[in-house]
Amino acid sequence: MAGIDIRKNDLVVVTAGKEKGKKGKVLKVLRDKDRVVVEKINFIKRHQRPTGSQKQGGIIEREGPLHASNVMLFCEKCRKGVRVRSQRLEDGKVVRLCAGCGESFD
Ligand SMILES: [Zn+2]
Repeated sequence: MAGIDIRKNDLVVVTAGKEKGKKGKVLKVLRDKDRVVVEKINFIKRHQRPTGSQKQGGIIEREGPLHASNVMLFCEKCRKGVRVRSQRLEDGKVVRLCAGCGESFD
């Protein structure tokens, strides 16, 4: 599953839906739901209840989660969203590489 390869602070590009083609930084990975939250992408309106310090409730906009299958890691060299392959190094560490150019993401 592609989504598993995405981590916090990765640069991703949206590949489906109304935000298609937009790029952003991953703020959060919701691994159990297979979703990611990407900076400045997929804003949704939320109603905020009035709290003690803030008497007026209101509508706030914040990023909503996207399904991980709708984003791809963005490769700076390829200038596009790419598939990722993983490679185990001699010391046992696993790194993620661009399937196109071989650039490491880690
Ligand atoms: Zn690449």
